[in-house]
Amino acid sequence: MLKHMINGKRVESREVFETRNPATNEVLAEVAAGGAEEIAAAVQAAKDAFPAWAAKPAAERAKLMRNLGELITKNVPEIAEMETNDTGQVIGQTKKALVPRAADNFHFFAEVCTRMDGDCYPSDDTHLNYTMFQPVGVCALISPWNVPFMTATWKTAPCLALGNTAVLKMSELSPMTADRLAELALEAGIPAGVLNVVQGYGATVGDALVRHPDVRAISFTGSTATGTRIIQNAGLKKYSMELGGKSPFIIFDDADYERALDAAVFMIFSNNGERCTAGSRILIQESIYDRFVADFAARASRLKVGDPLDPDTIIGPMISRDHWEKVTSYIELGKQEGARVVFGGCTPEVPEKFRNGFWVQPTVFADVDNLMRIAQEEIFGPVPCLIRFKDEAQALQIANDVAYGLSSYVWTESTGRALRMARGIESGMVFVNSQNVRDLRQPFGGTKASGTGREGGHWSFEVFAEAKNVCMSL
Ligand code: NAD
Repeated sequence: MLKHMINGKRVESREVFETRNPATNEVLAEVAAGGAEEIAAAVQAAKDAFPAWAAKPAAERAKLMRNLGELITKNVPEIAEMETNDTGQVIGQTKKALVPRAADNFHFFAEVCTRMDGDCYPSDDTHLNYTMFQPVGVCALISPWNVPFMTATWKTAPCLALGNTAVLKMSELSPMTADRLAELALEAGIPAGVLNVVQGYGATVGDALVRHPDVRAISFTGSTATGTRIIQNAGLKKYSMELGGKSPFIIFDDADYERALDAAVFMIFSNNGERCTAGSRILIQESIYDRFVADFAARASRLKVGDPLDPDTIIGPMISRDHWEKVTSYIELGKQEGARVVFGGCTPEVPEKFRNGFWVQPTVFADVDNLMRIAQEEIFGPVPCLIRFKDEAQALQIANDVAYGLSSYVWTESTGRALRMARGIESGMVFVNSQNVRDLRQPFGGTKASGTGREGGHWSFEVFAEAKNVCMSL
C-alpha cells in the first residue's frame, strides 16, 4: 500500500483508495486515504521541523536541494515509468522532459536561495531602511494530476530552499511519484518533517489542509473552480493560484508557416492535450486558413495514439474515466454547436490489452466560432478549435474574448505587430514565434480566471517568503 510520509515515517490510514493505470484501467496500488487527522499530524511535523530548517544557512539548504536533484537524475527512468503508468503521460515526455525538469527545479532553486537579496533605502541623514526575505513557515503545496511529479517539485524546490517546511498533497488520480519524492528527499539528507506527503481526496485532505490555522501559505495548481473554493476557505493565508487556461495560438499570414504548424501541433497534442498552457484555440489569418486547416488535420492524423510506454507514442490515454467522459462530451458538443470535424471525432483503435483504457482520438474542430462553448471552456484534452480571423484587431479581440488568461502564442514576422499583440493580449505569458519554452527565472502564472500570483525565480518569493522591512534611526 502507498502510505503517507509524515515526519519521515510511513503512515497508514483506515480508509484506502485505488490508483489505476489509465491505459489499462488496472489497479496500480492501494493508497492510504487521509483526512483531517493525518493533516493535523503532518502540519504539526512541518511546524516542529520549521525552526531548525529555517535557521540553517541557505548554502546548507542549497546543498541538500542539489543532493535531491542528483538523486532524481539518477532515478529518471524509474520515476518516468512510474509517472507514465500512473497518469498516461507518454514516456517520451516523462523521461526526456518532465522528470529531468524536476531535477532542474532543485538545482535552480538551490541557486536562487543563496542569491536572495533585499533592498536598501537610505532615506535621509536620520533613517535607513532595508528589507530582508524570511521564510513563511508551513506551506500547503497542492498539485493536479497532469505532470504531477514536475509540478510537485516546482513547488517543493522553492518552498524548501527558502527555508519553509511543507505538506504536499497530490491529486488522488496521480499519487505515486510524490511518494518517491518524499523518499528521495530523506535520502538526500533533508530532515524528517521538512517535506510531508498526505495522500487523499481534495474534499477531505485538501480541504483540511487549506483550512488548517498553522498553514501560512498555499501554492495551488489546479482548476479554476477548486482554486476559487480554496481562496474562500483559506482565510488570511498567502496564496498563489495557478489555474486553468484556454490559450490563443495566433498565426498571421506573414508567419514562418512550417515552424508555426509544428509548434501548433506540439502545443495542443503534447502531454495528451492535458496541459494548462495548451494552445487550444488556434487563430489563423484568413488568407492561410484553408491551407493550414488541411495541413494541421493531416498532421493530427499521423500522431501515434496508444501504449504510453512506447517512445514513439504521442497521445496516451486520458487520466480517468470521468475525464474521458468530459473530453468526449466536448467532442459531441462541438458537433452539435456546428463546428466542422476535420480529423478524429471517434474512439481510436488500440491493441487488446488497452481496451479498457481511456482513449480519445485527437479531434480537430475547424470553423469554430469563438463564442461556442468548445472555444470558451477548458477541455483539457487533444481537441483544438481552429478559428478564422481577418486582421490584427480581430485577432486581438478573439484572443481576449475568453474568461482565461494564462498563456498566448503569436506568430508573425512583423516585430511591430508582435509587440502590439504582446501588449494587448490579456495573459500572464506571451510567446512570440515560440512554443512554450521555459526559463526558470521567468514569472509563470496567469491573469483573469487563470489565477493570481506568479512562481519562478524570485517571483516565487511572493508566496514562499515574507518581505520584512527594517527601519533604523541613525
Ligand atoms: P482540480 O482542481 O480538480 O484538483 C487539483 C488539486 O486540488 C487536487 O490535488 C485535488 O485533490 C485538490 N482539491 C480538490 N478540491 C479541493 C479542495 N476543496 N480543497 C483543497 N484541495 C482540493 O484540478 P485537476 O483536475 O487535478 O487538474 C486540472 C486543472 O489544473 C486544469 O484546469 C489545468 O488547467 C490546471 N492546471 C493549471 C496549471 C497552471 O500552472 N496554471 C498547471 C497544470 C494544471
